[in-house]
Amino acid sequence: MIGYDEALALLRAQCARLPCERISAAQALGRVLASAIDSGEDLPPFANSAMDGFALHAGTAPLAVGTQWDVLGASAAGDAQAAARDGAWEIMTGACLPEGMDSVIPVEQVEVLARDAEDRPRRIALRADVTPGQHVRARGEDVARGARVIDAGTCLAAEHLAVLAALGVAEVDVVRRPRVALLNTGRELVDDPRQPLAPGQIRNSNGPLLGARLRAAGAELVAQQVVGDDAQAFVTALDEVLASRADLVLSTGAVSMGRYDFIPDVLRAQGARILFHKVRIRPGKPILLARLAGGALFFGLPGNPVSSVVGLRFFVEPALRALLGMVHERALRVRLANSAGKPVALRRHLKARLHADAQGQLAVQVLGGQESFKLAPLLQANAWVVIDEDAGEVAPGTLVAVYGLGHLQPAALEGALR
Ligand code: AMP
Ligand code: MG
Repeated sequence: MIGYDEALALLRAQCARLPCERISAAQALGRVLASAIDSGEDLPPFANSAMDGFALHAGTAPLAVGTQWDVLGASAAGDAQAAARDGAWEIMTGACLPEGMDSVIPVEQVEVLARDAEDRPRRIALRADVTPGQHVRARGEDVARGARVIDAGTCLAAEHLAVLAALGVAEVDVVRRPRVALLNTGRELVDDPRQPLAPGQIRNSNGPLLGARLRAAGAELVAQQVVGDDAQAFVTALDEVLASRADLVLSTGAVSMGRYDFIPDVLRAQGARILFHKVRIRPGKPILLARLAGGALFFGLPGNPVSSVVGLRFFVEPALRALLGMVHERALRVRLANSAGKPVALRRHLKARLHADAQGQLAVQVLGGQESFKLAPLLQANAWVVIDEDAGEVAPGTLVAVYGLGHLQPAALEGALR
């Protein structure tokens, strides 16, 4: 049986970046940039005032408190650049600095000595020294034309959209969303929540859990089906979902050692190449990766809900990152608040809750109820703790690896589900 690092290397070797598409920048929230953005403009686009006040020419030396100036005009945000001569120029925040002016004194720091018929200031006295260049936002001070502003592989957030808008970027190249199909196997499964359960039946919770997690991870869910435990029905369903041109096919269940765990044999019979089956992890050890004859990558996730979501979080999501051209994810290191439980020779993935301790320091608590069939503890979890297979006994106070619930949802204090 291989370990996690070896499995992940095998997996990543199968995931080249997907092709890109050009879309409107306004529609690009949550998409991953395929090519870097270099600014074609200066931001701010012109020197402007950081305050409501008066623009002055200082040159190289400060202007002294007490000096008096005639006010020769006024500029507001949106006005074209004025050509000022000597004297002072009334100016509002964001207004273009008049030609020849280099400094701004805030309105609170002047005394208005005279006003015109419309009550506009005509003559002022400085109530503070003026340092050359003060309260001026220089052209390109925020982003210089030609500067690299967003790297390829960045998942675009609201702040990126703001910078793209500020720089007049109308369209961006993003990586096509990975197309994912999901098959939930199990003759015991009932999909319709209104249908009463017959003896022996349970409801399909993996479908909604993995479907929603996939969407949150930047994938497009292109097909989803529930299939019984017979090989022929599975082959038919597989053909159907492959018609949706999925890049990845995920199944849950039927992948371990039971009599109805038919997936490895069926895949081989269909001409798939099994890349690995079983990894030294808990939960979810029976996980399987294969390349289907038609080219799609196949993940066989075990059926227990937490096993399937660990398979998704720690195998499928790294694959999605590679397909999207994103850098490898790195764990946070956070102090463990309690015991991580008995050591085992498997890499463990533990439902956990990140919180601030009594001193306000970040700490992470391993939650009770780690059994892989238990869904309810997931509602307390806002993070995963990962313990390496060779870690031995992990005492409280040790720094441990912490991951968010999804690769696009970094571990955070908030975010527990209740
Ligand atoms: P399997 O991997 O098929 O042996 O399933 C392991 C356990 O997970 C069994 O108790 C199944 O009933 C359960 N299980 C399988 N698929 C699902 C599902 N889609 N939703 C909830 N539980 C499931
Ligand atoms: Mg099953």
